[in-house]
Amino acid sequence: MKATEIFPKSTFNIPAGLKYDTEKLLYKSGLLRSGETLTFYSLGVKILDKIKEVIISRIEAENFKKIHQFKPSVEDIKREIYNEKILPLYFYSLNDFTLYSYEITNNTPKLLKILSEILDYLMQKGIKQNYFSVAESDEKIIYSFSSEKGDFAFLHCPGCSNSYSLNYISYKKEIEPKNLKKNESMKKVYTPGIKTIPELCSFLNISPEKTIKTMIYKVNYNNNKEEYIAALVKGSRNINEEKLKRVLGAIKVALANEEEIINFTNTKMGFAGPIGLDLKVIADKDIIDIQEAVVGANEEDYHLIDVIPEKDIKIDILCDIKENKDGDPCPVCNRPMEIIEGQIVAEFATSKENNITFNSMKIDLFNLFYLISEKNRDSEGLIFTPEFSPVLCYIIPINVKNESILNASKEIYEKLIKYVDIIIDDREESPGVKFKDADLLGIPYKIIIGNKFIKEGKVEIKERKTGKSFEIELNNINIEFFNSL
Ligand SMILES: [Zn+2]
Repeated sequence: MKATEIFPKSTFNIPAGLKYDTEKLLYKSGLLRSGETLTFYSLGVKILDKIKEVIISRIEAENFKKIHQFKPSVEDIKREIYNEKILPLYFYSLNDFTLYSYEITNNTPKLLKILSEILDYLMQKGIKQNYFSVAESDEKIIYSFSSEKGDFAFLHCPGCSNSYSLNYISYKKEIEPKNLKKNESMKKVYTPGIKTIPELCSFLNISPEKTIKTMIYKVNYNNNKEEYIAALVKGSRNINEEKLKRVLGAIKVALANEEEIINFTNTKMGFAGPIGLDLKVIADKDIIDIQEAVVGANEEDYHLIDVIPEKDIKIDILCDIKENKDGDPCPVCNRPMEIIEGQIVAEFATSKENNITFNSMKIDLFNLFYLISEKNRDSEGLIFTPEFSPVLCYIIPINVKNESILNASKEIYEKLIKYVDIIIDDREESPGVKFKDADLLGIPYKIIIGNKFIKEGKVEIKERKTGKSFEIELNNINIEFFNSL
C-alpha cells in the first residue's frame, strides 16, 4: 500500500466528545473514525481481519461449520436434532462484530478448551495482560480484561483470584418452615413520621447496619403466574433486582405500589416490616448477622427494636440479593474483593438436557480490537505487535525526489509485498511527518532509506516498541530477515 492511497489521512485535530486516549489515537490514525457511526477504514479492517482469522482458523480446525443467523440462537438448531446419532454438531456464525459458536454433543465437550486457547493466544500476542474469568452463574462465565473504558464492572478477589459478576448469587438456601417462639426482649417503639432509613438512624441514634429494609415486590413468572413477596436487606444496602429475579426464577420483579403495600402491611409506606407479614420472605443472608435489629412494625409511626432476625423472622429463602460494593467479602476465602472495570471479550454458557450438552461461546471482536489498541500504546501512538498490526513495515524514503533513494525503497517494497502487508511512504512530506505517521499507526518496523544508503548502501531498521535501530545492507532485507526478528 502506498501512503498516498491511505484513506482517511491522519490528523492531530480530534473532535470533542472522545473521552479515552485510545479512542483519540484510533481517530487520529484513521484506523477507526467515529461520527454518525463507527467506521473502520482499510488499515483498521486489516486488524479486525487478523483477530477474526485467529478465531475462525482455530474453530474451523475443530470442524465448526459456518452458518448465518439473523438473530443468533441455538434454539432453532436444537429443533433439528431428530436423532442423537447425528451428534456432535458444531456451528459458528459471524454477526456484525460478534462471533457466535455452538457445540451440541452427547460426548466430551471441547468448546471451553478451544475458547481458553483462543483467549490465551490473544492475551499473549495481542493484549499482553491477563484476563479475568468472571462467574455470572453456575452456567455462564464472562471473560473480561480491565480497561479504561470499563463498561463491565465485576468483583475480583485478590486472595483466591476468583471473580464474580455483580449479578452472581453467591448463596441461596431454602429454609424449612419453623414455629417462631415469642421474643420477650423485642420492643415496639414510637417513631412518629419516621419513614426512611436515614431518618430512623438519626432518630434512634443507630447505624444503618442495624436496620432491616422490607421491600414488597410483585413477581411475574413464565407461566403467567404472579405473586407478591417481601425482600429483606440491611438498611445500609440496596436490593439487586436482577439477583432477586434469578433467586425466584422469575421473568420480572417490580416494586409494589403504595396501594398494594398498604394492602399487605395494613399501614402506610415506610413502616413495613417482616414480622407478622403474610408473604413469602426472601432475605439477604447478611441480615442474620445483625444483633438487635430494627424493623418496621407494620403499624403507622412504630418500629420494632431488639429483633433477632434468625429467631423472629419467618424466612423462606435466605440468599444473596444485595447490591455489591467494593470491599465485600469473597464467598470463597472471605477476603475483601475489589470492583474492577473492564470490557467483555467473550462469554461461555453451558446447559444440559437429558444426555446432551449445549455449549455456546460469544466473542466480541470490537472489544478485542479496542483492547489490543488500548494495551499497546504510548504518547506518540499505537504500538502493535506483528501478529495484529495492520502492516508489518513502513518504508520511509527520506527524500522521494532522490531517484536512488526512491528506487531502493521501491525495490524493498516489491521484495516484501509478496509475503506481508507493508506501506511505502511515497509522499513529498518531510521525514518528520512520515516518522510521526508510522509511529501513530503503531507499525512494528520502520525501514528508513536516507543518506546512509547513498554513502554506504545501508538502510536503517527501527523498531516501534523499543525505539532501537540498526543498520543493514539493502541486499540483506528479505522476509526471512523480518521473520527472524
Ligand atoms: Zn477469595
